[in-house]
Amino acid sequence: MNTVTVKIMSVYLIVFVVLSYLVLIKCLYYRHRRSLMKSLSHVMGVLSDRDTHAADLRALVVTAHPDDECMFFAPSIIQLLDLNVSVYLLCLSEGNYYNQGALRRQELLDSCAVLGIPDSRVTVINHKKLPDDPKAEWSVSLVSSLIVNHIRDHSFNMVLTFDGRGVSGHANHIAIYKAVSHLASTGQVPNGRSHK
Ligand SMILES: [Zn+2]
Repeated sequence: MNTVTVKIMSVYLIVFVVLSYLVLIKCLYYRHRRSLMKSLSHVMGVLSDRDTHAADLRALVVTAHPDDECMFFAPSIIQLLDLNVSVYLLCLSEGNYYNQGALRRQELLDSCAVLGIPDSRVTVINHKKLPDDPKAEWSVSLVSSLIVNHIRDHSFNMVLTFDGRGVSGHANHIAIYKAVSHLASTGQVPNGRSHK
């Protein structure tokens, strides 16, 4: 092969690699979008199945760290608020992994304000047994009791949280999923749903 042929072949190869990459990204995007739409239609299904008025719904979003609410739950929170559902947030740590708990608590309140959840509907727990740490095993019974007490205090009738993989795989997220699914299976969480 002469050099011109090699050059042309290299250009074809590069174009092929770039196109394959774009197709892969597009597939991942559609897969993610489909699962999001499925989860929202599930929520909508709950609304119509039970003939419940959205305005009667009080939804609690349970997260582990500041920024979970915008990274993982923003579409669901915005959709629920659009439906006039009362949305509250319970965050089980200040996100103190880098000793920036106070700053991150304020960032959480600011983020919730942008999403449409006022400060009065945001609760941040700072418990020494629940450190922001992927290596820390959060006690499922402690997490369950904090969540169930909060649900009882505020009469929530819908709970949203992470899926079984903790969405991003963080151990603190997974502990919350385990706690909420335990509460749901024992009938202590009305309409318990995991975020997928
Ligand atoms: Zn997190």
